[in-house]
Amino acid sequence: MASLAGLVAEFPWGMNSELNFFRALFGEVLYLFLFVQLLWAQFYGDPPDKTHPWAVHDNNRPQPPRIEPGEILGTPPSDAIILFDGTKESFKANWKHEKHKRKKDWKVINGALIAVDGAGDLLSKATFADCQLHIEWAAPSKIIGSGQGRGNSGIFLMGITEIQVLDNYKNPTYPDGFAGSVYGIMPPMVNALKPPGQWQTYDIIFRRPVHRDGKALDEGYLTVFLNGVVVQDGTPLEGGGLHKDRSRSRSFPVKGPLKLQDHGNPVQYRNIWYRELRQRSVEGGTDGELSYEATTTKRAEIAASIRKDATTKKGKEKLLRLMESLCYEEDAVAITDAEKLRSEFIDQVKINPDSYKEDIIQVNNAVKYLIKHQRMRVDHPHIEILEKIIKNNGWKVKNN
Ligand code: MG
Repeated sequence: MASLAGLVAEFPWGMNSELNFFRALFGEVLYLFLFVQLLWAQFYGDPPDKTHPWAVHDNNRPQPPRIEPGEILGTPPSDAIILFDGTKESFKANWKHEKHKRKKDWKVINGALIAVDGAGDLLSKATFADCQLHIEWAAPSKIIGSGQGRGNSGIFLMGITEIQVLDNYKNPTYPDGFAGSVYGIMPPMVNALKPPGQWQTYDIIFRRPVHRDGKALDEGYLTVFLNGVVVQDGTPLEGGGLHKDRSRSRSFPVKGPLKLQDHGNPVQYRNIWYRELRQRSVEGGTDGELSYEATTTKRAEIAASIRKDATTKKGKEKLLRLMESLCYEEDAVAITDAEKLRSEFIDQVKINPDSYKEDIIQVNNAVKYLIKHQRMRVDHPHIEILEKIIKNNGWKVKNN
């Protein structure tokens, strides 16, 4: 036998090749175990239940979409929507002034967008809600003022909830108004600021409050990293925060603009981009724990798509797909069709079982899985026939 290193180096990799490689290396029993793991994944983890439409380790679940990350941490990934890239064109294309009557504008100088006293707040033209937001800012290097009067600006998610921008490097103020605070709600955990004049980085994960019929389904929350240090960790929004007044649980619009505050100080911004987040289950997302109704609907949808795929297959492959669909939804036609295909399969393989060894074990395991999870009756005659074939041939099979 070749050395392990030689086998690894020379082996033509790919799933079937890998299986044969392991077969050569570890022998029949382990090979069968691996075969089970790789090919029978659909009869592997716990099946869908009343509040989870997907099985555990469900291969029917869509693969996460592929995106290209930024080359350096902080640069936008391929699916980011860029709100400011350092150019005047980008400023014009993506932002508008909140104030209609004004004598001044924000400025773009050396790749930075600078707040100008009296120009008023900026609103992004894009409206959005749940997001990952990246934004960099710098307070003026020339220190003027103190407390809330030093390097004050702000980043308002949906134009409502402010993540404070302030030069707090050596500048105490009320903690729920610190840089990195959810203004009026929650101080940052730590003060991780760099000195004024240096660029600071916020990475923000925002979830808006969701209300339905006057009831909060999710109060919304914020996570913030300041210069890579977590300063807000799933902080509940408690209505989104106000100046002086205590905000109360409230509904937010579906979407809103990002707002940058003109608080009278020439704070600079650069490298502003966001990515939308996947839907939470309260908004129709189908990952995680769902309501019974949403789960039932999604399970029916998955089952229908598997049954549709089954129509493109024949014989054992079709049988397995139909059996798989029964894990998501009981369906009289699928049960009858699977029954018929399984009878045909048994008739076909029982004459010369040796040449169908893997197929027989595969179907047997699928049957046992359905029985274990109450998708098939315990005393179904097919289980006895398949087990008998396996026993008579002395095949050792590891159960799921
Ligand atoms: Mg502010």
